[in-house]
Amino acid sequence: MSEGQIELSFWVTNVDAKIEAFKNREAKAKNTFTLSEIDKAVAYKFIAQYHYLKDAKFFAKFCYGLFIDNVLVGCATYSNPQGIVAMKSWFGLENDNQDVLELSRLCMLPKLNGTNATSYLLGNSLRLLKSKQVKAVITLADDSRHVGSIYQVCNFKYYGLTDKKTDFYTADGRTNPRGQTKDIKGVWLPRTQKHRYCYTLDESLICLLKEQPKPNVGMINNYECCNQTNKVFDKRFKEWYSCPKCTNSISLLGGDENFLNSFSHESSIEAQK
Ligand SMILES: [Zn+2]
Repeated sequence: MSEGQIELSFWVTNVDAKIEAFKNREAKAKNTFTLSEIDKAVAYKFIAQYHYLKDAKFFAKFCYGLFIDNVLVGCATYSNPQGIVAMKSWFGLENDNQDVLELSRLCMLPKLNGTNATSYLLGNSLRLLKSKQVKAVITLADDSRHVGSIYQVCNFKYYGLTDKKTDFYTADGRTNPRGQTKDIKGVWLPRTQKHRYCYTLDESLICLLKEQPKPNVGMINNYECCNQTNKVFDKRFKEWYSCPKCTNSISLLGGDENFLNSFSHESSIEAQK
């Protein structure tokens, strides 16, 4: 065994012991963790390994790491808001305004999921963003997955759900093309709504949305797409496709029409708009 291996096993054991002590409430968060700004490449690597979105592309502006000794155990990243409407409709700001960031990823070592290490990282990284002249942080919680309890714990204000929408998935793999979709092959599927949260760092920045009572844990919405069959039906052209939501791709399903029609659940939505 090389020296390197001995050292590695020492660190792993050490971190595990500290995590256990923290989870058993023998050690407080402030005595267990340290926080610092980290390099984007380090954050991306950690997120690719531990976040459910894996290596889905995103661009962080500031990244903060949660450490036990010198081992990275969590990471929070902040980006320019994704939907350009956010700046205008939330704050009446221009799209190129840099005062507002979006929490793009909050990712922990799996052993720390569900502990208050997550809120410790989020809360303290928000504090560090003050020195970056950031005035507010927005974040969206997908209502098919969670209500955003972690944001409530960290004193974000709640501004209700985004509008109900459907997306058109074209048969050639694009999503939500602008303009006419009437003669284009593909399927309409419901889009998950998002719980909107904002944490204000500078009270001079006013959010134009109306604050609302926070949703309770368990207010999870179900969105029907294919009813776990991985197949969706387009009533307009009477064609079956692989479910673009569940299979991450859309392709025309050939084969036996009776077999395909035996899936009783027709999940397509009539063309709207
Ligand atoms: Zn599906």
